[in-house]
Amino acid sequence: MNVKEAIQTLQKHGFKMTNRREHILHFFAKEDKYFTAKELYTYMEATFPGISFDTVYRNLHLYDDLGVLESTELKGEKHFRMNCGTTHHHHFICNACGKAKKIHLCPMDEVERILGAYKIDGHKFEVYGLCPTCQSA
Ligand SMILES: [Zn+2]
Ligand SMILES: [Zn+2]
Ligand SMILES: [Zn+2]
Repeated sequence: MNVKEAIQTLQKHGFKMTNRREHILHFFAKEDKYFTAKELYTYMEATFPGISFDTVYRNLHLYDDLGVLESTELKGEKHFRMNCGTTHHHHFICNACGKAKKIHLCPMDEVERILGAYKIDGHKFEVYGLCPTCQSA
């Protein structure tokens, strides 16, 4: 998702686009990786001195709820990134730099077959390791 699509999603759900909200989108759009709320807050504070962590956090979760962002738990902390697709996908996440690579394969077809009569409501699937750049560093 790019900034323009994210703004459209926000407005479609009846939320107003503000300078702060737009700034958050640019933060996530500039790099293809996961960030913590704290990293976003540091970035926001440089442009909006005195902004509260609470404000940043609320907007972060708004974007997460709307599907503008994707989130996951890494090293015991919640991380966020721009939603990178409209179709169902999974990620390889680099443990060193936090960069994510899309995986266009879902293991659920196989899992459904194994589970048989069980009704599945959702699933999570992530692969962790080192990206090629970090392996050679
Ligand atoms: Zn993604
Ligand atoms: Zn890496
Ligand atoms: Zn899947």
